[in-house]
Amino acid sequence: MSQVDLTPEQASEGSAVSPVDAAQLVARLRATYAAGRTRTLGWRQQQLAALGRMLVEREDELIEALREDLGRAPFEAWAADLRATAREVEDLQRHLATWMKPHRQKVPWLFRPGRADLIHEPLGVVLVIAPWNYPVQLLIAPLAAALAAGNVVVCKPSEVAPATSAAIARILPLYLDPSAVAVVEGGIPETTALLEQRWDHILYTGNGSVGRIVAAAAAKHLTPVTLELGGKSPVIVARDANVKLAASRIAFAKFLNAGQTCVAADHVWVHADLAEKFLAAMRSEISKRYGSNPRASKDFGRIINSRHAQRIKDLLDGRGYEVVAGGEVDVKGKYVAPTVLRDVSRDAAVMNEEIFGPVLPVLTFEDLDEVTDAINEGDKPLALYLFTASDHTVEQVLATTSSGGMCVNDAISHLLVPALPFGGVGDSGYGAYHGRWGFETFSHRRAVLRRPSWLVDAPMLNPPYPRWKARLTRKVF
Ligand code: NAD
Repeated sequence: MSQVDLTPEQASEGSAVSPVDAAQLVARLRATYAAGRTRTLGWRQQQLAALGRMLVEREDELIEALREDLGRAPFEAWAADLRATAREVEDLQRHLATWMKPHRQKVPWLFRPGRADLIHEPLGVVLVIAPWNYPVQLLIAPLAAALAAGNVVVCKPSEVAPATSAAIARILPLYLDPSAVAVVEGGIPETTALLEQRWDHILYTGNGSVGRIVAAAAAKHLTPVTLELGGKSPVIVARDANVKLAASRIAFAKFLNAGQTCVAADHVWVHADLAEKFLAAMRSEISKRYGSNPRASKDFGRIINSRHAQRIKDLLDGRGYEVVAGGEVDVKGKYVAPTVLRDVSRDAAVMNEEIFGPVLPVLTFEDLDEVTDAINEGDKPLALYLFTASDHTVEQVLATTSSGGMCVNDAISHLLVPALPFGGVGDSGYGAYHGRWGFETFSHRRAVLRRPSWLVDAPMLNPPYPRWKARLTRKVF
């Protein structure tokens, strides 16, 4: 099979990709895959090392793009997008050789002598579709996992974060094997053209409505899909919680990236006895972090665009809550103040959809069952956070709810433990990646039984089946 070498310019397909272009691109990448070089440990390690280098050498460019798109503080952009991704890449580099080894399995005596192996083989041509909120991490981390598993990859960054999309399209082909990795920029028409092609795996990160479009398109080709979706991730602050610790960690999880985080603390259920103390602690966390005028703080981000700022403004319609802190929205300036709401009713607009902004509704409870029942009435969350000193409470919440992941006395940090899979359940998605789980997602586990050729065959299961044979076979099979 011929090997296809794309120039960096060809590998970054630019903004217009028709179904014909998409078909040609997939055919070119498929030819690279068929040539076999992406299967070797050497090639995979080379690509991972190049990604690691790119994240360091192009730090300034990427941080500037993130500032342009999301008004991110440079440190936050570095920590949440660049360094978090580099850690993923390093973990893959460290363990890849071990994960690639065949795993020898036990052979039942009926098939001995013989050897059974579980072999991880690449899937082939993979499509990664990324969203705008962590536009570096959510594209590069799945890409790294797909390359580690020996695949060729098309990356589709989000058009909603145009500066980062352009930076990635420019930079990535300069570091990675251009005949094995391509970037296609664009929005719905381009993604639709890509989705018409036959892929060997699609990983999509974004909202559930588009997730359904992706899954339906993939079903036409029986393509396996990983859907990394969102939803409302609740926090429970139990009666025995450390309130100061809870407020500090919830403030981090809510105001990071101005609340535009898939695993952000969406809303808080606090025990009624702690409510006043908790609200006071949240107010103090906001002024500690962003001063008395958060708008002037260089460390507080902006909403991605005015459409989303307007969406958040619409959620703050003045009904079913009282403002404790913040509350201002400047749609044109894409600014939403760090906001805390109290006495929030369960049918307030902020409780009807994922907030995806720096607005924290606080609800109170007396009995933990009320909270777990409320959680179970909604979609299964991507993350669930619990602040408590009691193991019993942890076990109770674990046993009565379900979520993609969970943190006890912390929020968001479960994502940074590479040995833990990151993914949703139910409406928050299916499949997972991070660390070994990404390698598994983008690999096929091939079952291989080898038997020697010199064996004299004892065809116990072959007809004819005289009584003696059936009786003997029943004893051993
Ligand atoms: P988005 O608008 O950037 O869309 C994501 C991708 O889908 C983009 O690449 C876009 O081009 C493509 N797309 C959009 N409409 C399409 C269509 N009709 N057909 C085909 N492709 C289409 O991002 P978003 O959906 O606004 O992202 C925010 C959502 O993503 C939130 O719900 C958030 O919780 C979730 N999210 C989940 C994770 C996770 O890891 N689970 C991470 C980040 C965000």
